[in-house]
Formats: sequence, C-alpha cells, structure tokens
Amino acid sequence: CLRSSVGVAEFTPVSWERIGGLEEVKLKLRQSVEWPMKFPEAFVRMGVCRARGVLLYGPPGCAKTTLVKAAASSSHCSFLTLSGAELYSPYVGDSERTLAKLFRQARACSPSVVFLDEIDSMVGCRDDGGGSCGSSVQAQVLSVLLNELDGVGFKTAERRGTAPSKRDKERAHRDQRMQLQEACNQDVMIVAATNRPDMLDSALLRPGRFDHIIYVPPPDLQARLAILQLHTEKMPLNSDVCLEDLATQTNLFSGADLENLCKEAALLALHEEGMSVSAVQQKHFQKVLQNFQPSISSQQL
Ligand code: ATP
Repeated sequence: CLRSSVGVAEFTPVSWERIGGLEEVKLKLRQSVEWPMKFPEAFVRMGVCRARGVLLYGPPGCAKTTLVKAAASSSHCSFLTLSGAELYSPYVGDSERTLAKLFRQARACSPSVVFLDEIDSMVGCRDDGGGSCGSSVQAQVLSVLLNELDGVGFKTAERRGTAPSKRDKERAHRDQRMQLQEACNQDVMIVAATNRPDMLDSALLRPGRFDHIIYVPPPDLQARLAILQLHTEKMPLNSDVCLEDLATQTNLFSGADLENLCKEAALLALHEEGMSVSAVQQKHFQKVLQNFQPSISSQQL
C-alpha cells in the first residue's frame, strides 16, 4: 500500500482570497486548472485543449503549494501530493512504484489534482551530457512521469479529430457529451513545483506535457501589504502599527517570511509585555526585523 505520507492529502480548503497579491498567477492557474475541471464542456465547445500539466516555478515560500491547494479547493477536486523527499527510497524500484501508485490513486478518486513538489529532485535531468546530473532512479521516475503525462487527462484534440460529419451532427454531439462525461470522471491534473526550473529535463517541458509554465514571483510592495494584512487579521494591533511601513521594509521577504514576521512579533509582545498583553506594537515588529534575514536573494529573482 501507499506510504502513509503519500496520497490523498487531508487539507483544509484554501480560498483564493487567502493568498495575498499574485493576481496574475491566480488567474493563470484558474484558467489552466479550475476552468477545465469545472467547465469541460465549454473547453470542448471552444475547441481548446486543456493543459496536461502545469509547472509552477519561483523562489521558496512564495505560495506555490498554497496556490495549488486553492486550485484544487475551488475545482472541488481531490488533492494528492508528493514531494521529492517523500519519493526517495533506497530500495530498487520503490520510488517508481510509489509514483505509479499515486497516479493510480489519483485516477481512482478523480477528478483530482496531483501536486509534485520539488519535481527537480524527483526526476533529475538527462540533458547535460547523458545523465550527468540525474541518478538511474531519477531516470526511472522520469520515465514513469512522462508516461503518466502522456496518458492522463482527456484528449480534446483527439475528439476533435473524430469530429462529427454534417449528416449525423446531432448524434455525434450526443456521443461527444457522453465521452466527455466519462473523461471528466477520470480527470487528473498534474501540477508540479520547483525552485530550479533549469534543473528539469527538457522532455518534461515538451508540448502536451507541462504545457503551462507559470512563474510565481516574490511578493511586490502591494502583495506584501496584502499578506501582512492577512496574517495579522486575527491579531490585536496597537494603533502605532503601520503595515504599509512594514511592507516597505520587507523587500525580498517571501510570503512565508512575512507570516513568520507576524508570528514572531506576537511572540515577542507576549515575551516582553507578559501574558496579559493586549496588542502587538510597531516596536515588536521592528525588533524582529532587526535580526530577520529574508529567504530570497536578489540572484533568485
Ligand atoms: P516551497 O517552495 O518552500 O515549497 P511554497 O512556494 O510552496 O514554498 P507555501 O508552502 O505555499 O510556499 O507557503 C508557505 C507559507 O507562507 C504558507 O503558510 C502560506 O500561508 C504563506 N504564504 C506564502 N505566500 C503567501 C501569500 N501570497 N499570501 C498569504 N500567505 C502566503
């Protein structure tokens, strides 16, 4: 059976509003994951092939996982997840089996979204002189993944290839709707994430595999403000706290860094003012900021 850490993830549904900023990324993800899952008929009617896989890349802690959870939540899909670290096994054939089982499970509980985190560490790369940066296990895992990418999802283009003739248009339309219904019932969308897109094997990026590649950038000034507002929502703030000012001071902070900053400031308020403290003050944020190293470097942009 699947390892306990692998498979359908119990997760609290995430709404798009709980993600600060990233409006363009959210729209792209909705178009590539949510729309085809929720409105497959519209895609067929418009002759648009849905993406087989979506690749998110960008610096760590900038909401890639949260975005995929939001896409799965809003599409009413099961969410299955696996990371590079979870896939690793010292036993021959174990990693490939785990991945294949994950996809079997995804098909069984479809419609589903499979999220492969740290995909670069799962599959390595054969492009650099015949496997110099990928192990044989990674090569096997890559092969399983390529098969799955070539096999999952429904094939709008193929269905268009067997387009109804003029004479039996009505009947063909009815058949098409039935096929579509069947396909929707086994629908699996693969979303992968990486901080190192340059480490990915180019076979994964060919058309028909990871069709949509979306950059998830670090939060800009406006997004940082939105994230700070979200993560202080339930926190009593003293009237001297200026979130706009904090957003200005936190260039290169990831969303995860900003979440930590808010938690650390609240803990510091408890520590300094005692357990009866009623609000976090600006000085608590400032003190935390003094020793806070943002996790993004300008080279990662
Ligand atoms: P990694 O590359 O390390 O896996 P990630 O890009 O997948 O990171 P998440 O795991 O989605 O990042 O985010 C980490 C934490 O930071 C989450 O708890 C999330 O709440 C918070 N966070 C990150 N970005 C945002 C954002 N834009 N809005 C609200 N919260 C955010």
